[in-house]
Amino acid sequence: MSVAALSPDLILTNGVILTADKNNNQAEAVAVWNGKIGAVGSKSEIDSLGDARTQTIDLKGRCVLPGLTDPHVHFADGGASMMHRLDCRDFYSNVRSIPQIVEKISEQAQSQAPGSWVIAHGSPMQDFRMPEGRFPNRHELDAASPNNPVSINFGAHITIANSKALEIAGINKSTETPAGGAIEVDESGELTGKLVERAQYLVRSVIPEYSYDQMKKGILFASDRCLARGITNIHDIVTNQESIRAYQELAQAEELPIRVSLLIRVIEAAIQKESLLNLGIKTGFGDDWLRIGGVKMSIDGGITGHVAKFYEPYVDDPCHEGLIRIEQDELDETVSAYHKAGHRICIHAIGDVAMDMALRSLDGVLKEDPRDDHRHRIEHLGNWLVNDERLDLIKRNQILPVPNIPFMHFIWESLLACIGDERLEDSFNIRTMLDAGLQITSGSDGPAYWPLDSLRDLGTAVSRQTWTGKVVGPDQSITVDEAIRMFTINAAYNAFEEKIKGSIEVGKIADFAILAENPHDIEPTKIKDIPVDMTIVDGKMAFFRDGAEGLTA
Ligand SMILES: [Zn+2]
Repeated sequence: MSVAALSPDLILTNGVILTADKNNNQAEAVAVWNGKIGAVGSKSEIDSLGDARTQTIDLKGRCVLPGLTDPHVHFADGGASMMHRLDCRDFYSNVRSIPQIVEKISEQAQSQAPGSWVIAHGSPMQDFRMPEGRFPNRHELDAASPNNPVSINFGAHITIANSKALEIAGINKSTETPAGGAIEVDESGELTGKLVERAQYLVRSVIPEYSYDQMKKGILFASDRCLARGITNIHDIVTNQESIRAYQELAQAEELPIRVSLLIRVIEAAIQKESLLNLGIKTGFGDDWLRIGGVKMSIDGGITGHVAKFYEPYVDDPCHEGLIRIEQDELDETVSAYHKAGHRICIHAIGDVAMDMALRSLDGVLKEDPRDDHRHRIEHLGNWLVNDERLDLIKRNQILPVPNIPFMHFIWESLLACIGDERLEDSFNIRTMLDAGLQITSGSDGPAYWPLDSLRDLGTAVSRQTWTGKVVGPDQSITVDEAIRMFTINAAYNAFEEKIKGSIEVGKIADFAILAENPHDIEPTKIKDIPVDMTIVDGKMAFFRDGAEGLTA
């Protein structure tokens, strides 16, 4: 007997199925065989397919989306730290001032053995939001933790270390600043404890690393949080062989809870630049659970540490325009080698100088060696400063911008303070980019800054509302259907996976997010808070919300 002759394994019925297919069709029910969607249709059509062996879930009018995707995360790197670090982030821990940070660190230090490291993290640009208008300095951290080295990072680009930590790292007044980094000193030439970009590695390299096992557990920990928000796919930026090995082992043991596309960093990583070229492995290698999604490199630093590279200085720091981590030559060489080897390339570029370098590099290589369907991406492009000229280049070369809607949601006021309203005019211009025919998605850059939550980002793309209640550029708002597409089919396209996932259509993978409410039916500002009642991965229930009323499985 063929599989098709059997009744479905699973039927979801009596719901509103938002398929995200070509016409955004809606259905009432869907049937699953062997982890794949086998039928989509009306309740009566689909119900008639089931029998005693079929698990049937009555959705009671709930809304079903294709499993959501977050296409830019630091998961293997961030998962373990989510489990173990002291959380001083203002967005999620209510730590809103330097004394509160100091108090938390002090409590933590007292609970640890003398000499052991206190590792904490805050939010990017928390200095802008705290009443003191700055980060804590090493003296404050010394007072909080006189006997333990302390390292607290605020986003990816700034770390503050106390005196003990600086001492262990061998940093003193005469330490040479590493290229692409900065060691801050005050007016009298004393270390403040603030380390920027590559200077952070001086301290990071002496902090005991998470064990392999902790890292693996961290992936599972972070995955569970994804499933609770309907996220079934991530594109993870990995920087070392252990992360890749951990993913492989989890996938082989069939323990990987979500699907992962690996973006492998080949510059400033523990992975050698030539590794993938030497192996002859191409983008796409892998299976439906774990796949190589491309290679990644970062031109400039982050906006949060004032190290994204702009032509004009920072508004609140008129002496600095940011810094470049990869010069144009090295960029062009690397881009060309990976392009020619058939890889998809993802380039991090936040400031306009870096954007232009990335666009120049991709434009050059595509002129020299045209390739359809390369799907090269520029990370963070689309946040701001996409003027007509840049948009033309993006369109002509079919480059995929991957903006970050949570930057608008969480740090809008800080962005204004640091790069000013002129540069933020027409920022997060999702409407414009969709109208230009680009397949736009958005990455959270979590989980360290803020949790992954594609539904939050989907809602923000419609409402344009920030964490503090401001509405930003309402003319760039998009429709609910467009926003759903951003985090489903567009994201699948971004990973070369639109034929197997991203919409609820026959033959595709049976990954679903079941929402307590239909985003079409509520206020746009409330979409971000819709509870996810159930998440299904590969036709199996992977998450069930306690108290999801009347939903039985
Ligand atoms: Zn990132």
